[in-house]
Amino acid sequence: MGFKRNDRGTQLSVQSLVPYKRFKSTKEKHFPDMANCRNGAAGTMKQKDGVGCEYLDIIVYDIYGLNTTNESQKLKFLEDNKFNVTFNQYCTKLSEIIAMRNNVIANRENYNFDIDGLVIKCATTDEKDLKRDRPEKQIAFKFELDIATTTLIDIDWRQSGKTFTPVAKVNAVNLCGTTVQNASLANLDRVIELQKTGLQIGCQVEVTKRGEIIPYVERVISKGKKDLIIPNTCTTCGAKLVKNGPFLECTNKDCHEVKVHQLMKWINKMDIMHLSRKTLDKLMAANKVNKIADFYNLTLNSVQGIEGIGQGFQRIIDEINRTRNPELAKFMAGFDIDGIGERVWKPIIDTLKLKSVSDIINLKATDLDNIPGIGPSRIAIIIKNVSEISKELIATEKVVGIKIPVKETKMTAGKLNGISFCFTGALESMKRPQAEAMVINAGGAIKSVSKGLTYLVTNDPFSGSAKNTKAQALGIKLIDEKTFLKMFYG
Ligand SMILES: [Zn+2]
Repeated sequence: MGFKRNDRGTQLSVQSLVPYKRFKSTKEKHFPDMANCRNGAAGTMKQKDGVGCEYLDIIVYDIYGLNTTNESQKLKFLEDNKFNVTFNQYCTKLSEIIAMRNNVIANRENYNFDIDGLVIKCATTDEKDLKRDRPEKQIAFKFELDIATTTLIDIDWRQSGKTFTPVAKVNAVNLCGTTVQNASLANLDRVIELQKTGLQIGCQVEVTKRGEIIPYVERVISKGKKDLIIPNTCTTCGAKLVKNGPFLECTNKDCHEVKVHQLMKWINKMDIMHLSRKTLDKLMAANKVNKIADFYNLTLNSVQGIEGIGQGFQRIIDEINRTRNPELAKFMAGFDIDGIGERVWKPIIDTLKLKSVSDIINLKATDLDNIPGIGPSRIAIIIKNVSEISKELIATEKVVGIKIPVKETKMTAGKLNGISFCFTGALESMKRPQAEAMVINAGGAIKSVSKGLTYLVTNDPFSGSAKNTKAQALGIKLIDEKTFLKMFYG
């Protein structure tokens, strides 16, 4: 079986896990704070230094880029190539699917890892269906859940960024071997929905563990005594809270929690080590950091005098500098756009061959129509949010820079032999050192404005600057950034 020509190369979908036995035998040493295998795997995946990854296994459940639309053939290919593949069965009737599920449930305890259900896939890959946010030909068939009944004590509205998420505080109850005192109510809409069936302080609720991990309020069994109060002001900044879709949100863009959430998102996405929420709070209180670009201007001098920050801060500055010039998909994922992470950006950027923030800002909804996994709701979120933060995106790109995928340029090494460039003024899509590196990689030279220079690159040929005037007097060709990039990207 061959590989299909496409823009995205070949990709595997995998699940990482710590097998039960390994978890048990190494828990004390390697997973002391982890309650179960699932936490162990999730915690290890979050480690930024890779510690503990040798205790993880991966199971492959899909491959993209093979020249077949037959799901069984894909799995066979993976197995033949020694990948650890998820167990699977080809069924031709609904009754066979149900029998398989019953069989798996009966043997569930014998597996060496946790499972919470099966995925039923159509035997033939349907690319169009896969483009939906929720494909209809690949559906989860979850197992029934353990259920417990308990009393609602109160609702805790927890702020994370702009969103206030309702968490039910309930009388302690045992579920899947752990004591549950808090259970998710998902969002404001769900609370409103459950209020219709009697959700009140003191009411009886059914709680399950979704995916065996997150306690969740499934339904109200009997009414309580006191009506719930849904908060209407932000506990951090006092601004009005509004309902936005299913969510309750703070409307103040300058709300401290909203900013912290955005900045922490960047810190986590870029894997900036040692920079904790506590340190961030200090930097924000001292007005040293208000936006992402501010991180990249921090120096030991500039943070002098902030309590609790000393010479050791240099390692944080080093970490920050290490994250300059990220790939475009990572850069975009560092901005706190709802549900639009690196996995969403990557296929968009790869398929459309986007190179810079301005390419992203210029995207139209129709450009995104045919990207796998990007449905209409995601397209709407992307277009709206990118336009809202376009100025910040450009300003951040100027300071942080973006990695130029050199190998993807059409320019081969040596192609610019004997050709020289000089850059003047600001570039829009990158910083000057990156542009200079591109020239040098392709065999060109960087020169000052003098006789023999081939091109002066400027976005403002009429600025009347000394370089421009001199270049014109010497008959040197003036080109703008777009023309320069065309030499590389065609
Ligand atoms: Zn607020």
